Amino acid sequence: MKPQQLVSLLQEKLILVSVSDGSLVVEAEKGAVTAEIAQLIRENKTQLLDYLSDSETQPKRQAITPRTEQYQTFAPLSFSQRRLWFIDQLQQGSAQYNMPALLTVTGKLDLAVAERACQAIIRRHEVLRTVLVDSENGARQHIRENVAFSISQSDLSTLDISTRSQQLDTLIDEELNTPFDLTQDVMMRARYILLAHPGTAQQDGVLLFNMHHIASDGWSIELLSQEFLTLYRAFAKGAANPLPELTIQYADYALWQQTWLQENVLETQLAYWQETLADAPSVHSLPLKQPRPEEKQSAAGCQSFSLDSTLSQQLGAVAQRHQMSPFMLVHSALSWVLAQHSNQQDILIGTPVANRMQSELEPLIGFFVNNLVLRTQTRHATLGDYFAHVRDVHRNAQANQDVPFEQLVERLNVERSLSHDPLFQIMLSMDSEFGVSDQADAGLDGLSFAQYEREIVSLKYDIDIDITPQDEGYTLRWTYDLALFEPNYIETLNRHLNRALQLFCDSAASTALAQLTLMDKQGQQAHLAQLCGPGVPLPSTPVHQLIETRATQSDARIAVKSHEGTLNYQQLNERANQLAHYLRAEHQVGPDTLVGLCVGRSLEMMVAVLGILKAGGAYVPLDPDYPQERLAYMVEDTGLSVVLTQQKVAAMLSNFNVTSVLLDDASQFAGYPISNPDVALSPENLAYVMYTSGSTGNPKGVMISHHNLINFAANCEQRYEITEADNVLQFSTMNFDIFVEEWLATLTQGATLVLRDDDVSLSREAFIAFCDSHAISVASLPTAFWHMLALSETELEALALRLVIVGGEALDKQSVAALKPGFVLLNTYGPTETTVTASGYAISGGYDAPRAVPIGRANVNTATLVLSEQLTLCPPGVVGELYISGQCLASGYLHQPALTAERFIDNPYFDPANPALSARLYKTGDLVRMGADGEIEFVGRSDDQVKIRGFRVELGEIETQLMSHELVESA
Ligand code: AMP
Ligand code: MG
Repeated sequence: MKPQQLVSLLQEKLILVSVSDGSLVVEAEKGAVTAEIAQLIRENKTQLLDYLSDSETQPKRQAITPRTEQYQTFAPLSFSQRRLWFIDQLQQGSAQYNMPALLTVTGKLDLAVAERACQAIIRRHEVLRTVLVDSENGARQHIRENVAFSISQSDLSTLDISTRSQQLDTLIDEELNTPFDLTQDVMMRARYILLAHPGTAQQDGVLLFNMHHIASDGWSIELLSQEFLTLYRAFAKGAANPLPELTIQYADYALWQQTWLQENVLETQLAYWQETLADAPSVHSLPLKQPRPEEKQSAAGCQSFSLDSTLSQQLGAVAQRHQMSPFMLVHSALSWVLAQHSNQQDILIGTPVANRMQSELEPLIGFFVNNLVLRTQTRHATLGDYFAHVRDVHRNAQANQDVPFEQLVERLNVERSLSHDPLFQIMLSMDSEFGVSDQADAGLDGLSFAQYEREIVSLKYDIDIDITPQDEGYTLRWTYDLALFEPNYIETLNRHLNRALQLFCDSAASTALAQLTLMDKQGQQAHLAQLCGPGVPLPSTPVHQLIETRATQSDARIAVKSHEGTLNYQQLNERANQLAHYLRAEHQVGPDTLVGLCVGRSLEMMVAVLGILKAGGAYVPLDPDYPQERLAYMVEDTGLSVVLTQQKVAAMLSNFNVTSVLLDDASQFAGYPISNPDVALSPENLAYVMYTSGSTGNPKGVMISHHNLINFAANCEQRYEITEADNVLQFSTMNFDIFVEEWLATLTQGATLVLRDDDVSLSREAFIAFCDSHAISVASLPTAFWHMLALSETELEALALRLVIVGGEALDKQSVAALKPGFVLLNTYGPTETTVTASGYAISGGYDAPRAVPIGRANVNTATLVLSEQLTLCPPGVVGELYISGQCLASGYLHQPALTAERFIDNPYFDPANPALSARLYKTGDLVRMGADGEIEFVGRSDDQVKIRGFRVELGEIETQLMSHELVESA
């Protein structure tokens, strides 16, 4: 075993090994060091000692020495300089990489002294007097011996107070927005803005330094201010420059990078990163407030929060307990939060490292800072496992931190995008707030300097979180892209980060990670409530009883109407009763008996549906237009023995071993009673079995009960408000569940169901004419058909249509942009397994929101849960899979217990008191997200299932004949 592996193994077991005075020290909890482990440590003692004493300085770096004469004036660029130079040329000079530092000056500043101090700094740090030049061998640094430098001045002391502060802001902005010319400027500028003459006001001036990032970084800014103060103090007293000579310069570092680093470690480290970052997601999938702009925007939002003070105090100790630094602990919490907010387990976060590994680099001004990519996998069994993983991530990243980020991007061949940063877009840093250090007193004549309080927010990443330890605890400062996130979303993230830290601090290492949730009990309850439709008590009667009640109340009203004629409620009921009595007597139809129905659109079709239900049976639609093989499969799968049909289509059944009952031969039913048959049915008895595409290549039968239909009827009543005055179009074929919606919603309310003529589906003109001549007020149409119709406001105006229900596919928002006032278009969503629909979104007047038309909120007694792969609730905005629970859930797939168990799973949110949160949960395979307003939006499929002209087709089922079906026959 390699010593490195052994150390990792021991760390996982919470055993710490270190070297003290040349001997090995083992620290562990009692009992952790088993005999076996003790043996392992003993056997590897020498290697461990070597490794541990070595790893203090890993990787072993060669000291950086001054460059030879050859490179004195011209030297190669460092890797990071190269990248900035490239960007600068691309942008043809930009102020984006300016690095300002502002000092408030109280008392009289001696400008000549200040200028001498600056000149000494520029003299001292070659990099500030270096310009970049292009040469045959690429760009070079040209280190100039002498450069002129002066501090520019502005006098605002004569202005009144308000103009003065305005003018001050303008001057500061001007300075910040003025680009450096990298080919000829000194890489530092300074300006003194006089605000008031000494003695007349508290604040006398502002000293503004500005460096270009190519010669600077956060650490450098702090150095600059320290050196300035030291030099000013000395020169003001007439003393000599007290700063010790620098032993090396930035160009020496650049050269070292090009030679030693390149030859020795770069390749190994690059290979490490290449492996570590293979197949990483190129951009995070946090929910954005709008589609990502093609070009990165510059407006930044900034919010600071303080971490709960008790939590702040715990952080250090808890981190130590898990052998982590506080930063690692925060990082693990942040990754875990982001994972849930993006429903993505693979999280990349960047963090800056000072990258001044050799002590000789510490006193240098220059661009050293490097970015490390921390890639974590957030799914682990226990918290301890997760922490061990995070420790590894950090240890390995640090061991390979010499690779300049720019090199890495190049090596990985990351596709460049103007819209987002390469490799990571979320930055986490601890205490990177370098500032000018406060110096109350410069030591002279009451002159003092302090940090000028003006927040300069510049946007670098999508989200940039900086943690600063302060006396009262930690402060978290979030800087974020305003084009991508709303301030309140950042607040939510911060709240969740706090909660994650609290959970991590309070939980033992053995806690199952899956047990920890982002939302607390209360938050979860509130979130669940938004995903549940209204609770409505349901009668336990069979569904046809609702229609029988109507038949007594509205007996003379027209129930069904077609070109063949009409049936009033009494006639429909009596004919259905006769058929039911016949089926019971002649074919032993009773509860859960499946009865085939192979008919065209006709009055008989409606009599048959009701008749089968009244007999206690469940109908199985067998579309006479379906291919023979599909019909044969369904007949065999259901084990049908009796099929109701009509003369004109009966031939379809001639090859099947079933008894056909010809509905058009009315004489055979005439002798049966017209009274409602009395059949004992329970709500769980089946009402119909409907076939839908299956991934095995064969369709599967979805079993829908009376209870499901009673529930769906309650939903229709609430959503459609159909009354006796409505004429409802019967458009769908009976092999789609939209057909159920049509007859159920109509006949339970005493309205009239108008069976369409065949040509109505063929053209918009025919559709409009039919609606017009039958005063159709309500229609349920496949979304694809609505798209084709594209009814204008004027066309709608001329029709009696008040409600159109669409569903089956994503609704194009153009098609609902303008609707007539008072007209409602309802976008419904629902798999066959959830009884026609599970949710709906009503549009009245028109739709002009930027987002896609939602599929809305859950139906009555239904929950539309947006869940992660681990079945945790996705926060608003996060894409998850839609799972449905409630009274709408089918009993399962006919004769397919395994498939049923796979798609209908235990509901972790089961609540016996809430009818929407049933014991089972249906996995839809649809990807959705919940909007901030609680409405669900459809995003796409998680599998290969598609809709072909409204037909649901799963991969594996290739039935070309099916697909060539007439568009309109779909729903
Ligand atoms: P089906 O079982 O034939 O009703 O098909 C159900 C599937 O159709 C759903 O799982 C969705 O993929 C899709 N679907 C139904 N309604 C909608 C809708 N309004 N928006 C987007 N997709 C829908
Ligand atoms: Mg559907």
